[in-house]
Amino acid sequence: MRSIVVLGGGISGLTAAYTLQQKYPDASIQLFEKEPRVGGWIQTVDNDQFLFEQGPHSLRGYGKGSAALDLIQELGLESELIGASKEAATRYLYLHGKLARMPGCLTQAFTSPLFWKAIPGLLRELYTAPGTREESVYEFSKRRFGAHIANTFFDPLVSGIFAGDPQHLSMKACFPLMIEWEQQHGSIVRALFSKRKPAGAPHPLAKLIGRSGIFSFKRGLQQLVDALEKRLRGKIVHQEVKQLKFDRGGITVVLEDRKIAADEVVSALPAYTLGKLVGNTQLMNRLPFASVAVVNVGYHQAQVLPYQGFGHLIPSNQHEQVLGVIWDSSVFKEQNQPGQTRLAVVIGGMRMRDFDCHSQADFVQMALEGIHKQLNMTAKPDFISCRIAKNAIPQYFVGHADWVKEVEAYIKSLSPQLSLVGNSFYGISVNDCIVKARSLH
Ligand SMILES: Cc1cc2nc3c(=O)[nH]c(=O)nc-3n(C[C@H](O)[C@H](O)[C@H](O)COP(=O)(O)OP(=O)(O)OC[C@H]3O[C@@H](n4cnc5c(N)ncnc54)[C@H](O)[C@@H]3O)c2cc1C
Repeated sequence: MRSIVVLGGGISGLTAAYTLQQKYPDASIQLFEKEPRVGGWIQTVDNDQFLFEQGPHSLRGYGKGSAALDLIQELGLESELIGASKEAATRYLYLHGKLARMPGCLTQAFTSPLFWKAIPGLLRELYTAPGTREESVYEFSKRRFGAHIANTFFDPLVSGIFAGDPQHLSMKACFPLMIEWEQQHGSIVRALFSKRKPAGAPHPLAKLIGRSGIFSFKRGLQQLVDALEKRLRGKIVHQEVKQLKFDRGGITVVLEDRKIAADEVVSALPAYTLGKLVGNTQLMNRLPFASVAVVNVGYHQAQVLPYQGFGHLIPSNQHEQVLGVIWDSSVFKEQNQPGQTRLAVVIGGMRMRDFDCHSQADFVQMALEGIHKQLNMTAKPDFISCRIAKNAIPQYFVGHADWVKEVEAYIKSLSPQLSLVGNSFYGISVNDCIVKARSLH
C-alpha cells in the first residue's frame, strides 16, 4: 500500500492530506503536527462572549478563492459561510493624526481629498512604460505612480498583507497580478478600468458571500480547520518530526521515539523548519519571516467604535507602532453577540526592529494607546487577548522566485518523492495555500 506522510497541520498540510485522501482512497496517509491542535496560524477563539480571530480573518471569494470555495462545498460548509457586510467595502488610512476614508468607487472618489492628491500620480501611471527587471514594491510603485502614492497607498497595503517592508518585498512575487496588468495593458489604471468584470462564470457559492467578495464562517475560520480535521480522523498524529532521511527505497521520517518509512512525503512546514529536517539551513533560512502581535479587544457596547468599515491601515511614514486595525464587529456582523464591538489590532512586522524585546503586556498597552489615539476610543474593554505570532509571515524579497527554483532543485536532488506546499513558497494567503495543496497528485 502506498504510504504518504504529510508534515505540518496548518491549512496547507490539512488540505494536502485531505486532497490526497480523496484522490487515493487506498493509500495510507498520516499527517504529523507538533502542536496539540491543528490549524497553524488559523485560530479562532470563541469564549461564549466574544469571537476573535488570532490569525487570518477572512478569505477572498474571487480569483484563487474559487479553490477554497470548491473545498468548502466538498466539506459541506456552504450553510456556514458568511460574507463581509456592505460597510466593509469602506477602508480608511490613518494619516496626519486622523482617519481618511479611501474612495471605494468613482462617486466617492470625487469627494475624497485622498483621491484629488493622487490624481497627478494616476495620470503619470497611464503613460509610464512597463518595467524590464524585477523590482521591489517601492521601486515599482514609485516608478509608476510617484513617491506620494508609493508611500500613502502601497506602503500600508504591504503592511496589511505581509507586515513587510516595501523596499525589499518583490512586486512580482507579492502582487503578480499587477505585473501581469502592467505587461498586458501597459498601465495598472487602464487594466482596472478594462477589467471591471472578472473572467469566467462566478463560483456557485459566490452569491452566498455577496458583493464584498470577502468571506468567513459563522463561527470563524476555525470551522474550515475543524471540518478538515474531522475528515482526516485517525490520520493526524500530534508529534514533532525531527529529521528526514533519504535513500533509494524512499524517505524515512524520524520522530522522537520512532522512524517511519514513507513512499512519499509532502512538506507543509515553514522553510526554516524544513531546512533543519533536511540539514540545509543555509539555503532554507534565506527566506526571512515577519513577526506580528494580534491584540483582540472586545466591548459589550456597540457605540464605542464611532465608525463603520473594514478597518484602517497606517503608512510607515506616520511612525505609529500599530500596523492596522480590523474593525471585526463591522466586517462580520453575524459573529457579534447583540450590541458588541470587536477589534483586532495588529502590531509589529518588519518595521518593528525590537519586536522580540516586547512582552504581551507591552503589545496590549500599544494596542490600547493606538485605538485611543486613532479611533478616539476611551471605554475600558471587557475582553483583551494577545497572540504573539513569531516568525509568522514569510517575506518574499526581490529574488524570491529564483530562491524557490533553487529550493525545488535541491529538494528534487534529495528525492523526487518529496513535495513542497505551504506559505513559504507559493503565496502567503490562505487561498494560495489551498490552491497549491489541491494541485498535488
Ligand atoms: C496574524 C496573521 C494574519 C493573517 N491574515 C490573513 C488573512 O486575513 N487572509 C489570508 O488569506 N491569509 C492571512 N494570513 C496568512 C495565512 O494565515 C498563512 O499564510 C497560512 O495560514 C499558512 O498556512 P500553512 O499551513 O502554510 O503554514 P502554518 O500555518 O505555519 O502551518 C505549519 C504547521 O506546521 C507545524 N509544524 C512546524 N514544525 C513542525 C514539525 N517539526 N513537525 C510537525 N509539525 C510541525 C506547525 O505547528 C504548524 O501547525 C495571516 C497570517 C497571520 C500570521
